[in-house]
Amino acid sequence: MIPETTTQFESIEPISFTPSVESWRRELADAFRRPAELLAHLGFSTTAIENMTCSDQGFSTLVPRSYAARMERSNPQDPLLLQVLPQKAEAVNTEGYHKDPLAEQTYNPVPGIIHKYDGRVLLLVTGHCVINCRFCFRRHFPYHDNRRSRLQWQQSLTYVRDNPSIHEVILSGGDPLAATDSQLTDLFQQLAAIPQLKRVRMHTRLPIILPSRVTLDFCKILRQLPLQVIIVTHANHASELDHSVYNACQMLRQHGVHLLNQSVLLRGINDRHQSLAQLSERLFACDILPYYLHMLDRVQGTAHFYVDDTKAKDLLAGLQECLPGYLVPRLVREEAGASGKTMITSAS
Ligand code: SF4
Repeated sequence: MIPETTTQFESIEPISFTPSVESWRRELADAFRRPAELLAHLGFSTTAIENMTCSDQGFSTLVPRSYAARMERSNPQDPLLLQVLPQKAEAVNTEGYHKDPLAEQTYNPVPGIIHKYDGRVLLLVTGHCVINCRFCFRRHFPYHDNRRSRLQWQQSLTYVRDNPSIHEVILSGGDPLAATDSQLTDLFQQLAAIPQLKRVRMHTRLPIILPSRVTLDFCKILRQLPLQVIIVTHANHASELDHSVYNACQMLRQHGVHLLNQSVLLRGINDRHQSLAQLSERLFACDILPYYLHMLDRVQGTAHFYVDDTKAKDLLAGLQECLPGYLVPRLVREEAGASGKTMITSAS
């Protein structure tokens, strides 16, 4: 049984988690890159595999084995499998769904920077991820035009340095933690030297998908940063949060990192109020505060994941009934041109 509370996590497997620096990169090299291979590993028959595989629409498959290990064998509706398996529905062009639904490319003043909101700026660290989520809102983003290297970060950092109103840098990607410790150390040193900065926030799936990325060395690097550090994990289902994730989160907390989570509301994956309640409970058991529940961004090829407003509001009302307020995430939508996220309430 997977534990629900911190106490249960601790009683089953105390922290003894010091993966080597390189182990996460070896794990990544060994990830599944072909749907048929993943499905065979999960015990599906040859016929089922033939029926379940289709074109990836130019967005390749990438699934680390440790993530696949959290999937239920031979279950085509497994909520983790559905997040990563290309589906025929991705080929459908639905009206109102676009390649760049948030118009990010219009907020791209210099390569590697997305500046939409006052006081904070998004810095693209790398175009790489350690998993390819089928609902990704940047699945069509032109990473080749925003390719990142130490040298190319300079233009982004100059932009931040020259804008005294920016107090917070949000590291994004791809996934910022897909960069190496050496690259991140270099970046952090340069951020620490920008006087107006107060905080660094990282949006990442890595502590959830590949928790071995959270090494003691990495935590020490974060501890040394003379800025507040916030990590926003992206977990969408309670089954993603196993003991290795718990241990990684404990290590981050012990090194002074604030942990928040944002989820995406996804049809067939977490669109039941019991699923969302269980997710909030388990996040908090991992010392992560459930923060945002995002409506799906209308990205071309993802309409089959969309949950409409009426259902989303019902789900929120259900959560408000069964959870304490601090475990109820804010239901939000991101809209192109808006000066912040749009809050959706159960009564609106
Ligand atoms: S980890 Fe985030 S950026 Fe990467 S594919 Fe998944 S949703 Fe997209």
